[in-house]
Amino acid sequence: MGGKGRLVIVSNRLPVKIEGHPGKWKVTHSSGGLVSALTPVLRDRGGIWIGWAGTTEVLDLKTLREILGPASKQAGYRIYPVRLSREDVDSFYHGFSNEVIWPLFHDLQTRCRFEPEYWKSYRKVNGDFAKAIKKHTRPEDYVWVHDYQMVPVARLLRSSGVQRNCVFFLHIPFPPPDIFLKLPWREEFLKDFLEYDFVGFQTMRDRRNFTDCLKALLPDSRVTGRGPVATVTAGERRVRVAAMPISIDYRSFRDTAKSAKVNRILKELKSQVPWENIAIGVDRLDYTKGIPQRIRAFGEACRSFPELRGKIALIQIVVPSREDVPAYQELREEIEKLVSSVNGEFSTPGWIPIHYMHKSVSREELAAYYRLADIALVTPLKDGMNLVAKEYCACQVDDNGVLILSEFAGAAAQMHRSAILVNSYDIQGMADAIHEAVQMPLEKRKSRMRRLRAGIRRQNVFWWVDNYLRASTGKALVDFPEASMAPLFHALMKRAPEASTK
Ligand code: UDP
Repeated sequence: MGGKGRLVIVSNRLPVKIEGHPGKWKVTHSSGGLVSALTPVLRDRGGIWIGWAGTTEVLDLKTLREILGPASKQAGYRIYPVRLSREDVDSFYHGFSNEVIWPLFHDLQTRCRFEPEYWKSYRKVNGDFAKAIKKHTRPEDYVWVHDYQMVPVARLLRSSGVQRNCVFFLHIPFPPPDIFLKLPWREEFLKDFLEYDFVGFQTMRDRRNFTDCLKALLPDSRVTGRGPVATVTAGERRVRVAAMPISIDYRSFRDTAKSAKVNRILKELKSQVPWENIAIGVDRLDYTKGIPQRIRAFGEACRSFPELRGKIALIQIVVPSREDVPAYQELREEIEKLVSSVNGEFSTPGWIPIHYMHKSVSREELAAYYRLADIALVTPLKDGMNLVAKEYCACQVDDNGVLILSEFAGAAAQMHRSAILVNSYDIQGMADAIHEAVQMPLEKRKSRMRRLRAGIRRQNVFWWVDNYLRASTGKALVDFPEASMAPLFHALMKRAPEASTK
């Protein structure tokens, strides 16, 4: 790669979303783990982000300039939108990405809908992304493609005759062969991964699952090397594969948690929920997060350990997500019924066991809730990493919280020694873990939390990006030049000709 290569991020969603209607457009900032992880990195280093702006509206160049210009300027990097039609969103996004890959890769194959139309649309939209990359990047740029919606991009780019340095990171888990082999397009899909120069996974388990699938489907493939980076050889292709757990901007969370504003919110919250033990759950509304199981477990803890009644409360924040998808509406109803059932069974005048909120909260409110909580319940059925586990610890500025963590979260690979690990399908096991957390002596809680925080402080999001870039390109983060926004702004306007047709 040449010395002047720029960092180009490619992901399904841009970190900004266009909403509204003609004459009243507005830009909102998207939520989610990837955005939380990469925004501080790009903001500090400059760069480009290519992705979908979350709208199917056809917008002309002038409108796009008015909408995305200020957002791009504010973000500190160029934003190039790729247009998706309503049909694309239905088949590529809701269809293949979220009704095939998402459930399959989270071991929930019975939720999959293997529609051939979805597969076709997935490849068509990935082709559109490949065209946008071709248009907006130069051969020396460094194209970092993210996540399961974008797997075929490198192959489609290469087949259109474009050579780019393309590397990939999978944010979600990679399933073992007995699950992956259910995918009707398994061989093609696996070969798509092999078109990158470097493929990163969250954990060694995910990487091993990937290489096990390779061995099952491409018997001639070879894996060499131990440690975090190994090499796969399959036919002409030599691809390095790595386990590199994503993280958070530790310092930013810690400093927010210590701020005067958070202290004010915390004081107010403490007066509103005055019980001795507060447990917290923070999740996007998603069936992989194990929210119903957690609520049942909390109810079971109240049932099995009467001494907890009147002394513990669970604050469950569910961030709205994929609201137009029926399965997610059903999940919401299931959660609300369960909360109501537990509260109906155990509430007494002056005590409500579960405080449920279906809404987004600000960063400061989130930090205040994390600080308020003596216990975090991070119990997904399966999760690539789970950033909430790390954010909770970063915000424990008094070293005082206990983390109850699912062994099926990627975070468990790094945090298992100092968290209470649970099987998130085991309701009684989770109830016991809640009891254990409440009973844990202060010194033990503190020494465990200190260890957890030290780990995240060291292996923060900058460590992740730096490690990833060094391993995949031999370049460090500091090698990517910072850029001023005035030329970037002009570049955005000059280099988005496809926008005029939108
Ligand atoms: N989060 C958010 N809005 C909220 C509450 C939380 O954006 O109202 C963030 C949270 O801080 C975390 C992310 O959502 O960074 C969730 O990331 P995680 O890895 O836990 O799960 P994902 O949603 O990516 O599957």
